[in-house]
Amino acid sequence: MEKQHENLIIIGTGAAGLTAAIYAARANLKPLVLAGLQPGGQLTITSDVENYPGFAEAIQGPWLMEQMQKQAENVGARILYDLIAGVDFAKTPFCLMGDSGAQYHTDSVIIATGAQARWLGLESETRFHGKGVSACATCDGFFYRGKKVAVIGGGNSAVEEALYLSNICESVTLIHRRDHLRAEQLLQTRLMATPNINIMWNHVVDEVLGDSGSAGGSAGGMGGGVTGLRLASTLDASAQKLAVDGVFVAIGHDPATSVFKDAIALDAEGYIITEAGGVHSSVAGVFAAGDCVDKIYRQAVTAAGMGCMAALDAEKFLAEQRMR
Ligand code: NAP
Repeated sequence: MEKQHENLIIIGTGAAGLTAAIYAARANLKPLVLAGLQPGGQLTITSDVENYPGFAEAIQGPWLMEQMQKQAENVGARILYDLIAGVDFAKTPFCLMGDSGAQYHTDSVIIATGAQARWLGLESETRFHGKGVSACATCDGFFYRGKKVAVIGGGNSAVEEALYLSNICESVTLIHRRDHLRAEQLLQTRLMATPNINIMWNHVVDEVLGDSGSAGGSAGGMGGGVTGLRLASTLDASAQKLAVDGVFVAIGHDPATSVFKDAIALDAEGYIITEAGGVHSSVAGVFAAGDCVDKIYRQAVTAAGMGCMAALDAEKFLAEQRMR
């Protein structure tokens, strides 16, 4: 069986993992970066990116991730494609087992495995991804300025997305499957006090309607995209149409952390618990960054910032270990 020993292994090649790789490589740690099922992370399924600093014009998410990977490789990070299927953090060096059968031994680890947005699971929702269907108001809301949009969900994310969009869009309809929200009270109070937000209780989306005949189109719905929703009541057999230009699905995220569940502390929703404001996990020498930790901000730039913090702390940890 193939075995190798590393200073630092970074798991994940999204914005957090690759930023950690850039910093760690420049600190001469020679990091090995392991890429999983979606190399490049969530930005690879995004089209226009206008909120990553440093680019005056909109850039494409996949291009940004390609650049980050090349930047990491140019400063000395090695990238390997192997999905991590098991870990042993109970003793040092830590051991990671890859799907390929390889075992990796390492003195430190940065977990940057990200999270996936939950989707409704409708065929029409998939068809209009990036053409009117989004899971991130902060990323895509600007494309809908002055337009009518819907937000699906009743948790903190849905209410925060609705409030954010209410400052940009003509109107926002929050569609929730029950008759009360699970979002915290303060957010609910702000929601109810916002005049251009309507709430549609006890409804689910049956179909995303749109003009799929036209080719292409961005998140802004140019050249084809979403025109409305067909909604079904959860109380009776009634159905109705709602005209909207965009729909934001905010029904939660799933952090990609199941492989770590017996190795480090996770919260009830599976997010990695780190010390307040930092990147240290419950095991010394194992750090975590990006959307596998963060359920609030979930931005490429915040993930990149956490990746930087994790690399700096890993470097400090390794230096302290070697002083002993
Ligand atoms: P969440 O709390 O799990 O809420 C998901 C919402 O989506 C629920 O209202 C749920 O309905 C609804 N839903 C789930 N599946 C659905 C489906 N198939 N069709 C229609 N509706 C569906 O998720 P979240 O709002 O993303 O929050 C996740 C965690 O992050 C929570 O712990 C939250 O407090 C935290 N968070 C915190 C902040 C903050 O502190 N500012 C911001 C965002 C998130 P039901 O209510 O009927 O189950």
